[in-house]
Amino acid sequence: MYIDRLKNAQRVLRASAGYRGAIDGKVGSKTLASAWRVRGVDALEEILGPLAPDRRVVLAAQVILDGAGFDVGVLDGFWGPQTDAAFLAWRGEAMPFRQADMAEKFGPAGSARCTAGVVRVPWRMVLAWDGAEQITEFKCHELVAASAQRAFDRIAAAYSPVQIRDLGLHLYGGCFNYRTKRGGTSLSTHAYGLAIDFDPARNRLKWGADRARLAQRDATPFWQAWEAEGWTSLGRARNFDWMHVQAVAL
Ligand SMILES: [Zn+2]
Repeated sequence: MYIDRLKNAQRVLRASAGYRGAIDGKVGSKTLASAWRVRGVDALEEILGPLAPDRRVVLAAQVILDGAGFDVGVLDGFWGPQTDAAFLAWRGEAMPFRQADMAEKFGPAGSARCTAGVVRVPWRMVLAWDGAEQITEFKCHELVAASAQRAFDRIAAAYSPVQIRDLGLHLYGGCFNYRTKRGGTSLSTHAYGLAIDFDPARNRLKWGADRARLAQRDATPFWQAWEAEGWTSLGRARNFDWMHVQAVAL
């Protein structure tokens, strides 16, 4: 049972603290190193006293969940019922969803839920195809709005307004759109309100990393903000459609 809790802590560290090791419930050097990277853990350890490795890993996961707005109760390094509830809520919202689970998880494409979430844009954004039309917020699926909002807020903190414009992040390419995948017959993740496009003109569908603007190195913090929330970049995963990020795994 305790192994399962440590596995869940590793899932949190993988999503938000750069953990790249196995989800095996074993606290090795990689797990510990990523736990140390979580800001605030060392300060808490000074209050709590020296922590055993397992407890430090749980504490790091608690700090991340707490910071993401999920109520873990006391930050004490013990995975109790409150932390478990917070983890389940977080996983339901922020973990990568599988394509196979989409209909069950999100309901039918095009339903009211696909536009029931609202994301407020923390920088000046305009429609990519009409620079005079400002976008202060947009609609997405209700289950991913909080996650998308955290990514936007993190991106706003990572870049200056000038850098945002230089990257083309101020050019909104769309979110909900009831349509099939380009060049295919299956429904796009856009048909569920689960994908967002940025600056389509400089990140064309078939362009690879040699041409796409968002493939350049200064876009890395942008993609990391999405990946921390469990979203997938088709550009970084498959080297096409660099305009696109989606809340569903490939
Ligand atoms: Zn797209």
